[in-house]
Amino acid sequence: MAGRIPQSFIDDLLNRVDIVQVIESRLDLKKAGREYQACCPFHNEKTPSFTVSPNKQFYHCFGCGAHGSAVGFLMDYENLSFPEAIEELAHAAGVEVPREAGSDFQPDPRREDHYGLLQRAERFYRSQLREHPQSARAVDYLKQRGLSGEIAATYGLGYAPPGWDTLLKHLGSDTDTQNAAVELGLLVRKDDGRLYDRFRDRIMFPIRDRRGRTIGFGGRVLGDEKPKYMNSPESPVFHKGQELYGLFEARKASQKLERLLVVEGYMDVVALAQFGLSNAVATLGTATTPEHLERLFRTVHEVVFCFDGDNAGRRAAWRALENALPVLREGREARFLFLPEGEDPDSLVRRIGREAFLEKTVDAVPLSQFFFESLGRQVDTRSVDGRAHLVELARPLLQKLPDSVFRDLMLDQLSQQSGLDRKRLSERVFGDPAPTPRQTPHQRARGAGPSPVRVAIRLLLEQPELGTGIQCPSGFEDLEVAGVSLLTELLELVRQRPHLSLGGILEHWRGKPEESQLARLATQPLEVPADGYTAEFMGAIQRLLEQRTRQRTEQLLLQEQGQGLTDAEKQELKQLLVEHQPISQ
Ligand SMILES: [Zn+2]
Repeated sequence: MAGRIPQSFIDDLLNRVDIVQVIESRLDLKKAGREYQACCPFHNEKTPSFTVSPNKQFYHCFGCGAHGSAVGFLMDYENLSFPEAIEELAHAAGVEVPREAGSDFQPDPRREDHYGLLQRAERFYRSQLREHPQSARAVDYLKQRGLSGEIAATYGLGYAPPGWDTLLKHLGSDTDTQNAAVELGLLVRKDDGRLYDRFRDRIMFPIRDRRGRTIGFGGRVLGDEKPKYMNSPESPVFHKGQELYGLFEARKASQKLERLLVVEGYMDVVALAQFGLSNAVATLGTATTPEHLERLFRTVHEVVFCFDGDNAGRRAAWRALENALPVLREGREARFLFLPEGEDPDSLVRRIGREAFLEKTVDAVPLSQFFFESLGRQVDTRSVDGRAHLVELARPLLQKLPDSVFRDLMLDQLSQQSGLDRKRLSERVFGDPAPTPRQTPHQRARGAGPSPVRVAIRLLLEQPELGTGIQCPSGFEDLEVAGVSLLTELLELVRQRPHLSLGGILEHWRGKPEESQLARLATQPLEVPADGYTAEFMGAIQRLLEQRTRQRTEQLLLQEQGQGLTDAEKQELKQLLVEHQPISQ
């Protein structure tokens, strides 16, 4: 399977799949004229600015600038690598991905085995929950917590039996399988080389990635033994700092998630789901990382952190706050729910019920309040020293916030609490006396109209067929005009692959600087009506040809005065002078 994927295959694949279908199966698309719209999955918004064009096989968000082909969408939305996205599209289209031999591209062939092996382990643990002679304790434990068989199945709960080698025996004696199981943390190898099961006598919670594939496990003890939770170690497919337990299930349960709850334990996630609150996720034995938060805020605009009300809980909440600051862009909101002493979400929801719990999440403390209360507790704001200290404490934290209305509001509040003038405070915190005005596209645009190269490229991206009939005149690419080599390449491409759409065209520049140039150009509004495309395009090409003629004529005239011309060059100059008037006249 090793080897590069041939570009021609990618071209054909993109002609075959429909970006609308690819996106429609993942987002709620609405038809709007010739295009489709949805609320952008890559930034938070209430009115849709995410647009999918079936014609161009291209998506673009006018809010955040996200754009790309069906491949790019899968890469960003499903977090896939390029080959994985191609595999996914090919699979949906029912075709095999060919590979070119002899290149340096080497996908890890064991990766697929890893997922397969994890799936085998998951099935094994599930069967043990039903069949193992000692599973009654596990079943009782789940029943005591009020879990139905349905919820257990939704989350794929299982049971790792006691004993050191139940999974080991189940996996068999194949050395490759055993080695992979060690790499995935299902088995542990002792110093003397012998293997044993990592998870024993625990309720097993499969951890799934965005696509629902099991990538690791969390195991919870049945009693009060320590550690309460044990997780798979980091592995080639499992990265704790990025994954969230329950996110796949939460997204599956609801198309329109508004709020996600971050809790500490897997049991909390499952218990809340049992009460119809299927929007809880848990980190995997780590603090919430900025990657987690970015992922959460890509899914919803509001995140509520649930923590114990004790000191340890407040410290953990503060860490979460610090990590949340850099990702708190416009429209994103973080809140904190502190639980009563001795309660976790699992016990609390069972005691007070769904409605009361839901109310608590809605009334959770806003981040700004938690922020100023926590800082206020460290200083005495009645004294000048204390107020100065408050500013110093707040400064490095506010610097983490992206430039936004929220940041302005936080600064207002700090100004109120410290008694320091708003303008001086801004200088103190951000070091800039006046905010630098953002350059508008108008200011950037130069006085002259768009160059013919730009016009031609823009129109080709809009309607690639325009280029199919054009034979590039020889010497065209020598024209000393910015962008002409890109235009030549583009013309060559649409001539060779006349059925490529915009999405497919851009794939030819994947990873190169031209890709973003082209995409940016493609999303700029066109000032020509559709029935004028051909005339405008031909006009631009004509202007370029004339420019080329002038350039070549001047070059030959100059050479004639200097080193002289060959016979062929004399002939060429004669021809040029007959066809066109040189500008020197
Ligand atoms: Zn967007």
